[in-house]
Amino acid sequence: MIRILGAGVSGLTAALALARAGRPVELIDESFAIPPVGTALGLFPPAQRVLEQVGVLEPVRRRAATPREGHLLGAAGQVLATVPAGGGLLVSRSDLVSILHDALPASVRRRRERISDVRPLREDADLLVGADGTHSLVRRSGWPGTAARSHHVTVLRGTAEIPPPRVSETWGRG
Ligand SMILES: Cc1cc2nc3c(=O)[nH]c(=O)nc-3n(C[C@H](O)[C@H](O)[C@H](O)COP(=O)(O)OP(=O)(O)OC[C@H]3O[C@@H](n4cnc5c(N)ncnc54)[C@H](O)[C@@H]3O)c2cc1C
Repeated sequence: MIRILGAGVSGLTAALALARAGRPVELIDESFAIPPVGTALGLFPPAQRVLEQVGVLEPVRRRAATPREGHLLGAAGQVLATVPAGGGLLVSRSDLVSILHDALPASVRRRRERISDVRPLREDADLLVGADGTHSLVRRSGWPGTAARSHHVTVLRGTAEIPPPRVSETWGRG
């Protein structure tokens, strides 16, 4: 049996791929929550190929925006660079997680639990997959000294109820 800790984008996709390959899978997450804020994830061709392999590319495409290009802007709003979208799709994280959830076959055993010690998870599993995010307990327990480090950069995020006039990223001093 393959056990996966974490049902975010990575854990859900791994569970789908392994189940489609005929493996028994147990997927563990503390909440199995659909992210409430649908900030856009850029999915480029390699990610799209994986989604195609697990059978969800078409539903993702139907919910995605397909920009032709994006702009890097300076702090004063000036265009620093125009970058072709390179076949990327923009999809809301909530939609992507919800599509992956819906595609999970019944054969995937779901277990809702907050894990604080990964050792028991290894005991009766052929493989433990750590898909438990930035502060991964699986990574920290197998590779001591690998706790996430601060880069002393503050990121502020927000959403607006308006369609973006164009896709852009603004760079400037904090
Ligand atoms: C602002 C921002 C923009 C981004 N834009 C992009 C983009 O455009 N394109 C792109 O490809 N990537 C983008 N990324 C990166 C991408 O979001 C992450 O790489 C991706 O979400 C990681 O998914 P994951 O499934 O590995 O982890 P997560 O989404 O963090 O999921 C981890 C899961 O594990 C569960 N979990 C964790 N610990 C435990 C525990 N102890 N017990 C039980 N459950 C546990 C959590 O509940 C969660 O469901 C962006 C990230 C940010 C912050």
